[in-house]
Amino acid sequence: MERSKQKQLKPSESDASASNDTSLNGHFGQTVKVQNMSGVSKGSTGEVSTQPSSVMESWREERTRSIEDNEMSLPSIAAAYTTILRGLGEDPQRQGLIKTPWRAATAMQFFTKGYQEKIIDVLNDAIFDEDHDEMVIVKDIDMFSMCEHHLVPIFGRVHIGYLPNKRVLGLSKLARIVEIYSRRLQVQERLTKQIAVAITEALQPAGVGVVVEATHMCMVMRGVQKMNSKTVTSTMLGVFREDPKTRDEFLTLIRS
Ligand SMILES: [Zn+2]
Repeated sequence: MERSKQKQLKPSESDASASNDTSLNGHFGQTVKVQNMSGVSKGSTGEVSTQPSSVMESWREERTRSIEDNEMSLPSIAAAYTTILRGLGEDPQRQGLIKTPWRAATAMQFFTKGYQEKIIDVLNDAIFDEDHDEMVIVKDIDMFSMCEHHLVPIFGRVHIGYLPNKRVLGLSKLARIVEIYSRRLQVQERLTKQIAVAITEALQPAGVGVVVEATHMCMVMRGVQKMNSKTVTSTMLGVFREDPKTRDEFLTLIRS
């Protein structure tokens, strides 16, 4: 089918050197290999599994918040922001700040709305049987997340490729998977892996590759204050991990 030929939804605006312009600092510690195109670094990013059954649970029962929860917790989150404002030396009663705690609480709930959704809901009715064995790539998916260490934004792009094995996923659903996992408190390594594992579990493809390029505001605004530092993480599963040619094809296509 046409639809599942090698897809490149958007031309890449970042040049090939972007991913080489990777810089790390203490935020990730010394042990984490961030640019790791040959697979997930096991030691630092936790368990890596290509065995579907063992990781199935990771997204079957993952919704931890409901709309009702949001309404119920809004006052206490707002109250906490009032405390923060006071602690920062501000006057929460001055005109410009009167509604700030409520706004901030509502915004924070939005930034973390991935907790209200489940991957399984996204996948419903979106998996199609398809005798297609060409690589499917969706690149430059915008991503906005929150660093779980500092509660400040991480933003960047996600590139996803997979080699179907009789099943394909509606292309827009790849971006939805990114949205659900990124709208949570995250570290980039886990985000990258969760996306790859979700696709693996949903489609049982021959292989999956996920590359995330991101800027961490906690690195840009504090610490080393490297304005242009980008962190690149990747997870390669199946043939993307085992076959250098497949992996290289994916990496070349997402940089073209
Ligand atoms: Zn951080």
